Amino acid sequence: MFKTIESEVLKQSVPAGIKAEFLQHDFERLHGFSLLVFGVSIAIWLLFDLIVSFQADQGFTWKSVAFLGVFFLITIVTTFVRKAVHFYWLNLAFVLTFSLGARLVIDGVPEAIRQAWLVIAAATVLYSATAMPLNNTAFYSVLVITWIFLNPLLGDVPEFDARRSMLICYPLFISALSIYIFNHLSKAKLYNYAMARLLLDQAYLDALTGIPNRRSFMTRVGQRLAGDGEQRYLVMIDIDHFKRVNDTYGHDVGDEVLTRVAQTIKREMQDFEFARLGGEEFGLYLWGISVEDVQARVEQLRSVTADLPGKPSVTISLGLAHLTADGNLSQALIKADQALYNAKHNGRNRVTYSP
Ligand code: GH3
Ligand code: MG
Ligand code: MG
Repeated sequence: MFKTIESEVLKQSVPAGIKAEFLQHDFERLHGFSLLVFGVSIAIWLLFDLIVSFQADQGFTWKSVAFLGVFFLITIVTTFVRKAVHFYWLNLAFVLTFSLGARLVIDGVPEAIRQAWLVIAAATVLYSATAMPLNNTAFYSVLVITWIFLNPLLGDVPEFDARRSMLICYPLFISALSIYIFNHLSKAKLYNYAMARLLLDQAYLDALTGIPNRRSFMTRVGQRLAGDGEQRYLVMIDIDHFKRVNDTYGHDVGDEVLTRVAQTIKREMQDFEFARLGGEEFGLYLWGISVEDVQARVEQLRSVTADLPGKPSVTISLGLAHLTADGNLSQALIKADQALYNAKHNGRNRVTYSP
């Protein structure tokens, strides 16, 4: 089953909306890790700056303080960032400052090892970038900035010999490897996300009508209950004489009627929680409005359903229950079910309220 769903997902290209949602989700998951990478980078840069400053007698100048200031500023702003796209800009600013800062520090090391250090610094930045929550543009911008500032071929380089070929080949290898890892990782993470979304949708949506199912209703209402104060109402809805619809017109038409009623509930009650609880029964949870308003809304739903165009027309019965402060969801369901029973008993196509 998993293999079948996996190959279905892999066959389709992921829609732009899901991609954007994934990038935001990836950023939120890796926000702390990104801050850690910034912090460790600052520590490494400072260590090398101190070593170079004192061993090469450069001294610890105002420039070092300025760089540290910018690093910390970007890191602090990143702590408060909530949107992935803002993070891309901050990451770019960090990489730019870091690469420039690293270049200036490396300019202070003996000439013989300078190029090697530039390559090490560039490779470190690129490896870190492969693990960061970036989109394609942000990643490739990091790649370009890194090689502009940490290019080992800038400055005095030997003539075309073995060392020079190494300085060309190794950066090419590192770049290709980083691009491969970044693409491979991004794609794998994106498809995992798309698959999790698909499976969750299937677990929480009713397959026939497309509205939330019982599992979704119980979870979401259960989560809401505590915060909704005194104005909380549960409604049980049941289609009247639905067996007759099936018997007269067939099961397929019965399914169409179920979908029509479900879509009407969705349209009329979209600011509240609703679900198909099973069979031809639906649940509704309303909060934050007076009992008069709730009664008006469910009465409206009843009359809209009865007047729906299309054949065969059906009516619904509704049991409305007030959730008392000490009551739980199971008790409320029993109370609403009892009210629904009374609505059926009193002739159907009506709302019965249980205070
Ligand atoms: P009442 O007014 O008392 O509710 O009468 P009713 O006929 O609606 O009640 P009953 O519970 O006897 O019938 C419900 C019917 O709903 C029986 C079942 O075959 C049908 N049903 C349940 N789920 C589905 C479904 O997914 N599709 C279709 N077409 N019918 C379904
Ligand atoms: Mg029924
Ligand atoms: Mg029923």
